Amino acid sequence: MKPNTNYNQLKESYLFSEIAHRVAEYSAARQKMRDGFGQPKEGSEAALPEIIRMGIGDVTRPLCPAVVAAMKQAAEDMGRAETFHGYGPEQGYDFLREKIKAYYEEQQVFLDMDEIFVSDGAKSDLGNILDLFGQDNRVLIPDPVYPVYVDTNRMDGRNIRFADANEENGFLPLPDYEVQADLIYLCSPNNPTGAAYNREQLKQWVDYARACQAVILFDAAYEAFIADDTLPRSIFEIEGAESCAIEFCSLSKTAGFTGTRCGYTVVPKSLEAAGMNLNKMWLRRQTTKFNGVSYLVQKGAEAVFTPEGRRQTAENIGYYRKNAAVITQALDELGIWYTGGKNSPYIWLRCPDGMDSWTFFDQLLTEAGVVGTPGAGFGENGVNFFRLTAFSTYENTVEAMRRLRRLCAPKPHTV
Ligand code: PLP
Repeated sequence: MKPNTNYNQLKESYLFSEIAHRVAEYSAARQKMRDGFGQPKEGSEAALPEIIRMGIGDVTRPLCPAVVAAMKQAAEDMGRAETFHGYGPEQGYDFLREKIKAYYEEQQVFLDMDEIFVSDGAKSDLGNILDLFGQDNRVLIPDPVYPVYVDTNRMDGRNIRFADANEENGFLPLPDYEVQADLIYLCSPNNPTGAAYNREQLKQWVDYARACQAVILFDAAYEAFIADDTLPRSIFEIEGAESCAIEFCSLSKTAGFTGTRCGYTVVPKSLEAAGMNLNKMWLRRQTTKFNGVSYLVQKGAEAVFTPEGRRQTAENIGYYRKNAAVITQALDELGIWYTGGKNSPYIWLRCPDGMDSWTFFDQLLTEAGVVGTPGAGFGENGVNFFRLTAFSTYENTVEAMRRLRRLCAPKPHTV
């Protein structure tokens, strides 16, 4: 047996375990203080009962009633011989793909049904799509980034170049024609930075991809958070993208499906390279290695796109938007530079006083009892940045920002 030695190239994924470790250590120390050992640091929030987690990328709002009702009905269907469903179509039931097609049409994107593939979420498809591409493709990935793009390519031994996302370009890097790429990852609105490309910027990427004969793997998992109507929700709103892009979507954050699992991927039929058609290849790949998403989940997903489901999911997104506004207001008041929060549930801020992200993590935890995510975990360009998310409860978000204000407010000058 010869294992895939590319796995040796993977960096230890220690970000969330290290966060958990530091939080556990701090909680234990605090408990000791409460039990009468040691003294809380002056001005610290050690006496507060609750650590507030603003680092999680998971949602907190439950599935909306329209989805729950549809899934209950689907369970009933499965319990009766006349309405029972066995293996479904690998690319998804028509009832769901028709709804997705109509959803795209609202943005003037006209897809064929067989360009839409229902999946158990964007993460699987982002990894699985690499089955279609040879190992010698040159991969371009922004830094900082959702780590899945990097790790899935390292597993296959592909060469990765990073496109610098930084404060100067608003964490929205644009193409550099000096750099040749075959596969390009873009995520907009972005995790972790919350930054979102406008049409002109995306057009530059489409033009570049076409010039390089590259394919853009466009992650639109957060499209539902776009509030500014001038921003594109889909790369297929950009002319020419149908000949150079694949788009990954997810109901995880749109409709609270993180635990229910459903997404969809659009592979245009006009995507071709070396005489091979990527849509046909993806269909072949899926029918070979995937047996589809459960009827129950697809029924729930269908309900997301009904008028009632749209209204109810919009309410939940509105809830997170309100949280994001609480965070950005606090940062504005404190004069802290950030991206995101307007069209995204993520807020990416520069650590105060030039601190590195782990130092700020420790300070925020031990002096304010608030947990965020150090930017260093998303790439080298994140070392002085920090991610907060709007997925907490409103009450916790307000309280966390109260504590942040106290921690970061300019201290009165004493002579
Ligand atoms: N893409 C990005 C940018 C994400 O942040 C996430 C989840 O956090 C995913 C994809 C995964 O989505 P899913 O839950 O549909 O697998």
